[in-house]
Amino acid sequence: MNADKIDRLWAPWRIHYVRSNNKTKKCIFCYSQRPRTKKQAILQTRYSLAILNLYPYNNGHMMVCPKRHVKDLAQLKPHEVLDLFAALTRVQKLLVKVLKPHGFNIGINTSMVAGAGIPGHLHIHIVPRWIGDTNFMPVIYQTKVISQSLDQLYTQLRNAESKNSKRT
Ligand SMILES: [Zn+2]
Repeated sequence: MNADKIDRLWAPWRIHYVRSNNKTKKCIFCYSQRPRTKKQAILQTRYSLAILNLYPYNNGHMMVCPKRHVKDLAQLKPHEVLDLFAALTRVQKLLVKVLKPHGFNIGINTSMVAGAGIPGHLHIHIVPRWIGDTNFMPVIYQTKVISQSLDQLYTQLRNAESKNSKRT
């Protein structure tokens, strides 16, 4: 494969995260479950929760994780695996509804060597994609969409999720 032909999501703002993450030992997934910060989660199921990535690869980049602090899928009980993927499905539906992306990248990085930013707590990345986003992102997103819309996006997703919860 020719490496020049690979589309890359370019997210230079992530360097702050990559640098700062080495300094802090705090697990954001456990932290976001504390009563005071609980409202930061976009949605929660019995064993899982989903939060917005504050250093996104693309608009709407979210992370879905088990509530339990475990490193790997193999450490989850079967009911936690089911719950995690049910939560992931809900997040995907929510993102479709609110942001109308053309596709998604969904993936898990386990351990530092594989690129996990928070290697101690298993999480699934879900990144909405739009046709052509790799072309205009470096120009537009860096200054506009990402910095402007995190709060807005949080409110939009939370509102959509609370409407969904009332219906079910
Ligand atoms: Zn944790």
